[in-house]
Amino acid sequence: WEKAPPTLRDLFRIARGHGEKTFLVYQDERVTFTGFTRAATTLAQALVASGVRKGDRVAIAMRNLPEWPVSYFGALLAGAIATPLNAWWTGPELAYGLQHSGARVLIADGERFARLAPHLSECPALERVFTTRMEPDPRATPLADIVGRVQDWGALPDRPLPDIALDPEDDATLFYTSGTTGKPKGAVGTHRAAATTVMAYPYSAARSFLRRGEAPPKPDPAAPQRVALLVIPLFHVTGCHASLGAALYGGHRLVMMHRWDAHEALDLIEREGCTSAGGVPTIAWQLATAAREAGRGLPSLDAVTYGGAPAAGDLVRTLGEILPRVVPGTGWGMTETSATFTHHQGEDYLARPDSCGPPLPVCEVRILDPLGETLPPGQVGELCVKGPNIIRGYWDDPRATAEVFSAGWLRTGDLARVDDEGFLTIVDRIKDMLIRGGENIYCCEVENVLYAHPDVIDAVVLPVPHPTLGEEPGAIVALKEGAAAGPEAIRAFAAERLAAFKVPVRIVIWDGLLPRNPAGKVLRAGLRAVFASPGQNGSPSS
Ligand code: ATP
Ligand code: MG
Repeated sequence: WEKAPPTLRDLFRIARGHGEKTFLVYQDERVTFTGFTRAATTLAQALVASGVRKGDRVAIAMRNLPEWPVSYFGALLAGAIATPLNAWWTGPELAYGLQHSGARVLIADGERFARLAPHLSECPALERVFTTRMEPDPRATPLADIVGRVQDWGALPDRPLPDIALDPEDDATLFYTSGTTGKPKGAVGTHRAAATTVMAYPYSAARSFLRRGEAPPKPDPAAPQRVALLVIPLFHVTGCHASLGAALYGGHRLVMMHRWDAHEALDLIEREGCTSAGGVPTIAWQLATAAREAGRGLPSLDAVTYGGAPAAGDLVRTLGEILPRVVPGTGWGMTETSATFTHHQGEDYLARPDSCGPPLPVCEVRILDPLGETLPPGQVGELCVKGPNIIRGYWDDPRATAEVFSAGWLRTGDLARVDDEGFLTIVDRIKDMLIRGGENIYCCEVENVLYAHPDVIDAVVLPVPHPTLGEEPGAIVALKEGAAAGPEAIRAFAAERLAAFKVPVRIVIWDGLLPRNPAGKVLRAGLRAVFASPGQNGSPSS
């Protein structure tokens, strides 16, 4: 961890050292590390020249494109707080991000600009807009006017970095949480927090060797370049701090996808010789099943990593059957922990398939009971975390900040337990837990049982209101193509594996996959309406 770059500018300097290696691949565009760093430096100088000052927010509204990391580092090197907005957001949601952050500058792609255009007048702090991949518009400056065409970035002059005083404790990023449990919160992270995450993967790989009593292999400068298929959106901390950060640090190549499509992913992995892929658990699942259906062994691939949402233990076993050479990896983290807080891989993971691994070494965890007392190993309580990767607080929201932060500890809102060796298992979110007549039911546990049914591909457990018990579990399940299991058969399957009070009293078969946000989480709030009326408890409906 002593090798961790203290600021994101130090990480950028490391990336500069990777020179002419290919860094970004997007369709037929290829950008070297030199091209990327020159474009980002050129943009940073232009932002400073146009009046951007330390601490200003520069918003980025773009899907994964080579311009994304250039905009992000352009903002950071100018001393601004890089403010990525969710590319899935609608026009009003994007406008909310601009209003809430008070961004002075926006860098957007054509699609996001079109959504935002009717709302620009509602964002009074916004002074300047740069756009890319669209026809010229009088309200915006084409980004290419500043940095040129993507394919020419390597020929830009080698400008010095703006001379701005940056401290590891300065604010660097404002990322919005996924909005799974309410309105997205603006999480403000420091340079140190973001830069800490880049060490998570090298550390975790080494830890697997150390646990087996073997010396980790020394980094070999002559080893072939690692090539990662980038599926996770860069506007999430995992895409940005973990995937992009690791690539900048280690000199890896990132192959960007236009949009997720499992079969296209297989083609890209083969064409580009990808060594790693990953994303949310659903993506890992779809990738493995598509490989099996297409009979493709993906010989270049040696690592698949996923996290951010509950992953049934079955996933790692299925992955091992379909792609036996691949080292599986997973982890738990939040926007507030700057991505990966725990990391779990290889044999450790196979031995504990329900865990998400131990915390990173510079981090601490505590499990608290509802009165705030620390619980011993094995007991379930609220997970509280501490470490250099935790955000400073929520933007412009001292109340929300005070609710979850105290004395350097962050209350996560997740229920978890830790075993004697420090391995963490996430049990559920506190908000998702059901209480049936005083008995706690962890929806995740019930969902994992439903996932184990051979016909089920997706499942969510939600409360069914009950006049005296308060609530009971109900389930919405999606079936695999061609599968025909009915609610009664699925309920019987669950009843064989769960205590009677945890068995869903109603099971609804959903047409197609369940709706999820880009962080891979089921959109529970919208689905709750399915069970909003009491219905006939005890007799499953479909
Ligand atoms: P919001 O805070 O706006 O409601 P969110 O919590 O979904 O949205 P993120 O910061 O993207 O926003 O997600 C963090 C949450 O994701 C964690 O608190 C946890 O509930 C869930 N999560 C992350 N990793 C895992 C994992 N490996 N297993 C289970 N849950 C996970
Ligand atoms: Mg959250």
